[in-house]
Amino acid sequence: MTPTPPFPQGPAEASKKDSRPVNRCDHLGSHPFSDTQDGLFRAYLSPAHAATCKQVALWMHEAGMATRTDTAGNLIGRYEGQTPGAPALLIGSHLDSVRNAGRYDGTLGVMLGIEVVAHLAAQGERLPFAIEVIGFGDEEGSRFPASMLTSRAVAGTLDALPLGTVDASGTTLHDVLHQNGLDPARYLEAAYKPEQVVGYLEAHIEQGPVLEAAGLGVGVVTAIAAQYRFKVSIQGVAGHAGTMPMSLRKDALAAAAQAMVAIERIGANGPPDLVATVGQLHVGPGASNVVPGQTTFSLDIRAGTAQVRDQATTQICEALQNIADERGVGLSIELQNDLPATPCNPALTACLAASVTRITGQAAHHLVSGAGHDAMVMAALTPVCMLFLRCHQGISHNPAEAVRHDDAHTAFLVMLDFIRAFATTTAHKPTEFSA
Ligand SMILES: [Zn+2]
Repeated sequence: MTPTPPFPQGPAEASKKDSRPVNRCDHLGSHPFSDTQDGLFRAYLSPAHAATCKQVALWMHEAGMATRTDTAGNLIGRYEGQTPGAPALLIGSHLDSVRNAGRYDGTLGVMLGIEVVAHLAAQGERLPFAIEVIGFGDEEGSRFPASMLTSRAVAGTLDALPLGTVDASGTTLHDVLHQNGLDPARYLEAAYKPEQVVGYLEAHIEQGPVLEAAGLGVGVVTAIAAQYRFKVSIQGVAGHAGTMPMSLRKDALAAAAQAMVAIERIGANGPPDLVATVGQLHVGPGASNVVPGQTTFSLDIRAGTAQVRDQATTQICEALQNIADERGVGLSIELQNDLPATPCNPALTACLAASVTRITGQAAHHLVSGAGHDAMVMAALTPVCMLFLRCHQGISHNPAEAVRHDDAHTAFLVMLDFIRAFATTTAHKPTEFSA
């Protein structure tokens, strides 16, 4: 097992608490819980995923839960409420990972859910609703080119399964399901009915630097960002780098450079939840002695609401058109992906924020998640809320991902407080929380 990466000293270090959920993530951070010997890679329905589910099921059982694997390969632990068979508050996140992953992305949310139930069970405390802790099998889409397959199955939003899709070794999803004892024909039976659940809570590392910069251990998510992805192409005229005078050039790369500066400026001048990114650039013909004739680049625009995203998109498109007109180059902007924003449920979010204030003594910091999460999918089934934990320098999808034990302990206390508050104020009026 790799040692926990160093973490900056802060005031909270003074109240060092050893967090079992963090220790368990560390335990799950290497072979046999990883498919690779070096670093962590836990792919959906891989041997490492199976080993992980086996271990996590043991912990769920120890915590007082009955465990099962659903027809999509999700691991679910159930802690009954005061009345057996009552609808459940779902607490979940994912157990799969990207390649060369950190140990806390997803897994920590599942471990925190188990910890909360372990505490309730140890006290003999039963609630007006059951609690189900879900370890989703596929969130990252790191094995098959389809992400959040298993939460979509649970939320009932998966219409058909891409059974013919293949992993890196050429094995179809159909065959992988069979190898794992899962019947493809029954996959969609993992869906819950809305009346079986009272809400969904997910704790997740922030995967960004905002909480750390604010000196806060936890924050409350208001929405998962709306996203647009475009492919932008600029058509100039290629020419000899030695003979083409500067005044006669139609340089596609210089135009793209100017476009990127404009994109950055518009992103930076918007509200804090607006981000605009160029992450890929191709230059044609791509020779050192040729004036670039053609460029294509990616454009990713995200914001907490579609309104902010769309406004920025309009500004960016206008700016790019002006640049193209001034330079006499061709421009095309092609929409490739449009994801709507997922607002977290306002009432549940207010309840979670009140818990943060009670536990930390500070007003809850609200933030938008720029990254997608299972909660975004689960919102189609039931009201959702999300708690973010500070992570070191915002580093994620990287072995250097790190969380503080005391922050995980704070998150545990907040979740416990939230569940108790939710039980007293809303358990008998579930319609109050409908989205
Ligand atoms: Zn995640």
